Amino acid sequence: MLTACDVIILGAGAAGMFCAIEAGRRGRQVVLIDHAKAPGEKIRISGGGRCNFTNLDIRPECFLSQNPRFARSALSRYTQHDFIARVDAAGISWHEKTLGQLFCDGSAREIIAMLRADMEAAGVDLRLATSVNDIRHGDGFTVETSDGTFSAPCLVVATGGKSIPKMGATGLGYQIAERFGLGIIETRPALVPLTFTSEQLEQIRPLSGLSLPARVSCGKVGFEEGLLFTHRGLSGPSILQISSYWREGYAISVDLAPDVDLGTALSEMKQARGRQAAHRVLAAYLPEKLARHIALHAGARGNLADLTKARLAELVAHVHSWELRPVGTEGYRTAEVTLGGVDTRALDARSMEARNLPGLHFIGEVVDVTGWLGGYNFQWAWSSGWVAGQAV
Ligand SMILES: Cc1cc2nc3c(=O)[nH]c(=O)nc-3n(C[C@H](O)[C@H](O)[C@H](O)COP(=O)(O)OP(=O)(O)OC[C@H]3O[C@@H](n4cnc5c(N)ncnc54)[C@H](O)[C@@H]3O)c2cc1C
Repeated sequence: MLTACDVIILGAGAAGMFCAIEAGRRGRQVVLIDHAKAPGEKIRISGGGRCNFTNLDIRPECFLSQNPRFARSALSRYTQHDFIARVDAAGISWHEKTLGQLFCDGSAREIIAMLRADMEAAGVDLRLATSVNDIRHGDGFTVETSDGTFSAPCLVVATGGKSIPKMGATGLGYQIAERFGLGIIETRPALVPLTFTSEQLEQIRPLSGLSLPARVSCGKVGFEEGLLFTHRGLSGPSILQISSYWREGYAISVDLAPDVDLGTALSEMKQARGRQAAHRVLAAYLPEKLARHIALHAGARGNLADLTKARLAELVAHVHSWELRPVGTEGYRTAEVTLGGVDTRALDARSMEARNLPGLHFIGEVVDVTGWLGGYNFQWAWSSGWVAGQAV
């Protein structure tokens, strides 16, 4: 059966649903297709089930792209404050956790329920558990699916990235882009734990379960957030953040006490309380277990007063600039997002429309715009979905 409509949207994630609502509100007949059984599955599991739906501090610098200016237009036309107003209007209560990150007080399901209600009110025809078999372009777009054939002058691709394949991620969006002649910026897993050599793992494993605030840097970029020692290596927000900047062969540097000038502090303590064991002094600034571990590995046995200048310097370096050379990442299996994607040079920033093929739009994570951890990726989904929704 052939169903003619105004807009076909592929992917009922954050971006696809938001675009569908906006287009529907503008009177467009929208068909939204997804192979999953439920819409917004990543919203459901996001933010530990509470969905970090945006960030108070949305700046272009918090997004990675080959063309960092591209995201500005959409982010300034549909802002975090617009989305917050929407959440407020739906009666969803929220709180700021840290660093401007906004989470639902209750459950991420409330965001999905809000979007579903808005879609219903906007008359969106949601087709779940529907697989896409073929896409053709002639006089408009024709999409053949397991639930019939749809045709429309506009096709919006919102199929997301490659992360977490077991939740329905596929490379469909990239295939569509390539097929219609749009470039792809090489993709890689991002916001993902890094993996280490077995030698480094041996050092890390005994500390498994420990967490502390730390500054993790790679080249000139650094993040001061939580660091978590795990039995597989290092994780926590600071590591996830830096993974978006790390490349094979690069080293990362970890400062385990970023708010302290340990060099000065230890010299002063050496004068004032030199009879204390080094690890005890360190424990004033670090968790006790970590303090012992570092003192041992830096060869700082005995009292502070007995340590040579060189030994003290080594101890300080172990804390402030612990250098590690990751061997890889945990990959798409656990990555929160996919870096790279549809080349923004092929898209109009105001409409997300392909420059070479009017009527074809790409929104959300499938595009080469990747946010930091902290609500930035959902804001990109809302903003890019919203602008496309005004244009289709
Ligand atoms: C565990 C986890 C936690 C996260 N937490 C946060 C957070 O708290 N805050 C934040 O900002 N970001 C978070 N993110 C990132 C965020 O979820 C994504 O950036 C966002 O969902 C991207 O939206 P999207 O609509 O572009 O893609 P998606 O949400 O991935 O939606 C794509 C949709 O397309 C469908 N699809 C894919 N392929 C096909 C196909 N071949 N046929 C039909 N349908 C298809 C999928 O089923 C899916 O419904 C998290 C990600 C993960 C994995």
